[in-house]
Amino acid sequence: MGEIAKLQQIIDESNNLVFFGGAGVSTESGIPDFRSVDGLYHQEWDFPPETILSHTFFQRKPAEFYRFYQAKMLCDTAKPNAAHKKLAKLEAQGKLKAIVTQNIDNLHQMAGSKKVLELHGSVYRNHCVKCHSFYDFAYMKENKGIPRCSKCGGIIKPDVVLYEEALDQDILKEAIHAIAHADTLIIGGTSLSVYPAASLVDYFSGKHLVVINRDKTPQDGMAELVINQPIGEVFEQIK
Ligand SMILES: [Zn+2]
Repeated sequence: MGEIAKLQQIIDESNNLVFFGGAGVSTESGIPDFRSVDGLYHQEWDFPPETILSHTFFQRKPAEFYRFYQAKMLCDTAKPNAAHKKLAKLEAQGKLKAIVTQNIDNLHQMAGSKKVLELHGSVYRNHCVKCHSFYDFAYMKENKGIPRCSKCGGIIKPDVVLYEEALDQDILKEAIHAIAHADTLIIGGTSLSVYPAASLVDYFSGKHLVVINRDKTPQDGMAELVINQPIGEVFEQIK
């Protein structure tokens, strides 16, 4: 049996499916991976992205933080791909119970998914650090420089988990609960090297563990099925 047929069979017989996804799910939609290093990038930025996207940097150099953030993180041209769409359909059919994602781009919601547990937050939610007023994606995109609250003038901070910041414990608990109760866990578009991905997978005790990733991952040996292909192309072939 081919890999796709095997995946189809697993999905067909599952009724408590959880999907755990990483950056690879979004790159196929045209979301640039901010970690990718290119020549232009080195000329334009004085610090590596992991430094700029840290809590300390946000506090000390907000103008430089937002110069990077607005250039690299506020992508509004990406569209959900076949993987996002199929996962939303599986949820509507009652098969898929949750998506746990490391992505912050809202593409699962755009595809129609309801239960999306965003471990690293979202660029679609932003709050004033002083009065906690809410601001949407468009406001952040329109306001160049340091975006400020229209009510009190405070700096607006994205609801994105920056380096040095803790994950939201409620989201983490929900993710653990979903994974622990799943009969099938599909891990897609992540090498599982970023915390807490690898440790979350340890909570899975269901029947089918599937890994779909372009490159090999440390979990491949544990998986019943490993597909080393782009995830959008894989889900394109699933009914
Ligand atoms: Zn405010």
